[in-house]
Amino acid sequence: MARPVPVHGSTPIDPQALPLLAPRAIPRDQHTISRRDISPNALRVLYRLREAGFGAYLVGGAVRDLLLELHPKDFDVATDATPEQVRQLFRNCRLIGRRFRLAHVVYGREIIEVATFRANSDDGSGDRELEDGRLVRDNVYGSIEDDAVRRDFTCNALYYAIEDFSVRDYVGGFEDVQARTMRLIGDPETRYREDPVRMLRAVRLAAKLDFSIEPATAAPIPVLAPLLGEAAPARLFEEMLKMFLAGHAVPSFEGLERHGLLATLLPDTAAALRSNRSGALRRMLLQGLAQTDARVAADEPVSPAFLFALLLWPAYCRTLAGLQAQGMPVEEAQRRAVDRVTLHQVQTIALPKRFSLPMQEIWLLQSRFSSRQRKRVFRLLAHPRFRAAYDFLVLRLVASDAHAADVEFWTQAQASSGDALSASLEAASAAGTDEDAEPAARRRRRRRRLPAAAAE
Ligand code: ATP
Ligand code: MG
Repeated sequence: MARPVPVHGSTPIDPQALPLLAPRAIPRDQHTISRRDISPNALRVLYRLREAGFGAYLVGGAVRDLLLELHPKDFDVATDATPEQVRQLFRNCRLIGRRFRLAHVVYGREIIEVATFRANSDDGSGDRELEDGRLVRDNVYGSIEDDAVRRDFTCNALYYAIEDFSVRDYVGGFEDVQARTMRLIGDPETRYREDPVRMLRAVRLAAKLDFSIEPATAAPIPVLAPLLGEAAPARLFEEMLKMFLAGHAVPSFEGLERHGLLATLLPDTAAALRSNRSGALRRMLLQGLAQTDARVAADEPVSPAFLFALLLWPAYCRTLAGLQAQGMPVEEAQRRAVDRVTLHQVQTIALPKRFSLPMQEIWLLQSRFSSRQRKRVFRLLAHPRFRAAYDFLVLRLVASDAHAADVEFWTQAQASSGDALSASLEAASAAGTDEDAEPAARRRRRRRRLPAAAAE
């Protein structure tokens, strides 16, 4: 769904920096968009607006995706009707947003977002005023040309007109889609300063669409990357999910690294990856992301908690190793590392507690896999986070095989019946291999195991 396009910071748009418009209509027989591929509800909205005498266009990501023969997630409509006029046309319509008024036309679970053409407000009223709780000036409505140039990338500024089924292009977006190129509209630096999240969108959409980022659009990113740290943490969290849980996590991560955004977004992980000379942590991370992509492709569920456990694992390992090097006892060091990494990360990305708590459990459970004591084994198997923690344990094999025996044990433990497991644990205990039967051996094992995990 289209997000209201915010103007951030206090930099007004410099009209000189905007491109010369080259309006163009690509007729129906010269593009691939067919009404068959458009949601029937979106078509209903377009036709109703048109019948009432308004301009009605499909716009943004949906047009871009249809030109690429992808299936759009949502269909956004742009029109010259005001939100009030839209409301009068649809019974199932509600107006949302104060700063940017939008109309939502609701069909069961599908919402068609209808936005009135807007011009970029040039008074610099930005998020700060919104955060201070004051209502910034209302929408500045504009022409379709105004609406096109306030959008971010040329590929996102195409309009499919229901009146003649042509694609309207004011900024060269049609060619850029054919050439699979991300190009910012206007002066890249100015546009990134207005809204630093556009840097992330450049990387995310390039990864999703398999586009390249045109050189002038890419060049300012590493320089301006620190500005991303000032973006709203809740917005960054949403972007992270779109980047990593939508089937293109690996190219997204590589893009963040390549364009120098990782150090702003995940500072502790970036530092840990730099200091991990063997590259083992990075390999594990990429393998985990590849598995996430495979799950998305197979329509299997993916969880933000597991994702963040993975993305922040290098940070956790490094912090834990640092605390232990200062002589802190293992269990206390683990708890402190968990808290420290989480608290530091949420300053940039607002990771909600319902995800950060299970993320922390996944980490803390890792040290419990070395136990073979019957009661503890059964308690861990019944733990609500067991499966995620076990999957994480298996993934850690990519970085280190120090716990290969644990993976083997827990793989079998899950497969065997409770009675069989119980019997084998008792047999092991009787044979003297159980850790509780040999406290000295257990202590030795633990001391070796934990720093090894931390140093992975
Ligand atoms: P996705 O496939 O992830 O939905 P999208 O391009 O549709 O990609 P949305 O966030 O749904 O992304 O935004 C819809 C449209 O709103 C974009 O295509 C673009 O035209 C405009 N837009 C979104 N974010 C911005 C931004 N930060 N600055 C300018 N225009 C934006
Ligand atoms: Mg969209």
